[in-house]
Amino acid sequence: MGEITVDEFQREARDWLGANATHAPRDYGAICPPDLVERGLAWHRRIREAGFAGIHWPTRYGGRGLTAEHNAAWQFECAVAGVPSVFNMVGLVLTGGALLKFGTPEQQQQHLAATLSTEHVWCQLFSEPGAGSDLGGLSTRAERDGDRFIVNGQKVWCSGGRYSNWGILMARTDPDAPKHEGISFFLFPMHLPGVEVRPLRQMTGESEFDEVFFADVELPADHLLGPLHGGWNVGMAVLTSERGHIGTSVIGLERRLEAMSKLAEGRDLGAVERDRLASLLSKGSAYKAMAQRQGPIASTAASLMKLGITEMMFDTAELRADLAGPSAMLDGPDAFGMLQAPGGRIAGGTSQVQRNIIGERLLGLPREPKG
Ligand SMILES: Cc1cc2nc3c(=O)[nH]c(=O)nc-3n(C[C@H](O)[C@H](O)[C@H](O)COP(=O)(O)OP(=O)(O)OC[C@H]3O[C@@H](n4cnc5c(N)ncnc54)[C@H](O)[C@@H]3O)c2cc1C
Repeated sequence: MGEITVDEFQREARDWLGANATHAPRDYGAICPPDLVERGLAWHRRIREAGFAGIHWPTRYGGRGLTAEHNAAWQFECAVAGVPSVFNMVGLVLTGGALLKFGTPEQQQQHLAATLSTEHVWCQLFSEPGAGSDLGGLSTRAERDGDRFIVNGQKVWCSGGRYSNWGILMARTDPDAPKHEGISFFLFPMHLPGVEVRPLRQMTGESEFDEVFFADVELPADHLLGPLHGGWNVGMAVLTSERGHIGTSVIGLERRLEAMSKLAEGRDLGAVERDRLASLLSKGSAYKAMAQRQGPIASTAASLMKLGITEMMFDTAELRADLAGPSAMLDGPDAFGMLQAPGGRIAGGTSQVQRNIIGERLLGLPREPKG
């Protein structure tokens, strides 16, 4: 295949979406909810056949061998078309990124093409009841026993756990080491004996998360990704990609803001609502400009985008509901939006944690005192 410029590729993506977007499920964002899995998988297969999955992955793993800029162009066009750009973000963005950076050739061979084809669908097994923001405090144990690890413990808030056959797992392998130095990162088959997945229900009434329990699970030792006890750095690289991916949702922002200003059409807005709306619109433009400057590559600055966009989406949901009036308190899309919006401020690292990262790593403020 000859070189294709980002502009040419973007035109190709736009034309393809113009002809195919009607086959897409509704735009579910980063994680496909359980009730849309069949449609999400069918959409992914269509995307893949057309060459829009693994855009910047090496061709030897079934990718297209293009650049992160080409990938960002695809995401931009999906946002404009209002369709999901990916079925399994945890697989294509987080696991794929970790495998390309830290995987052995055998691990890359085993998983990358299978992830593109959705033969392997991934979930993220990081958070625990006692370890969310302070992920370094995790207590799920993986003890070495010959050519395997024995895993015991519990994870929580696992999006898509029920329909995933693989997980990326962070577990403690050296309980005597300082907390960040005793963690390892594993590629974890979800169907091993001793794994139990239990759905949780959230306040929207939906059930997108699972608790995952491990009881003496025997995990083959070659499922370790990166160095033994060196899983913290692997996990942090993964989370930076997650924030970067969330940050790219800015490209759909303009459409959202257009929809917002239309909401005001035909209404007699008071000065306060007008002010709130104008403030959201100008914030949205500022984030868009910032994202354009940042470019598509995830970095620490991704925290700025993650914080800005998710806070703005929360304020937008609140304003939408206020403009819709008291009925929005009862049922329907505005009520749903209000109940769903807080999750965005928590997933992938809470807003408070993003502020700490920005303060310490971007602004050079003193580090937060250790409790
Ligand atoms: C939609 C959604 C999807 C998710 N999907 C997954 C998934 O697939 N896999 C997975 O492993 N996890 C997932 N999570 C979990 C998510 O990563 C955690 O909820 C998040 O990291 C926060 O952890 P916590 O819930 O334990 O809250 P805590 O860490 O207990 O925080 C409670 C409160 O204290 C504040 N806080 C904590 N520490 C500090 C600090 N140092 N400074 C200032 N304030 C602080 C927080 O901001 C928050 O307001 C998901 C969460 C959501 C909402």
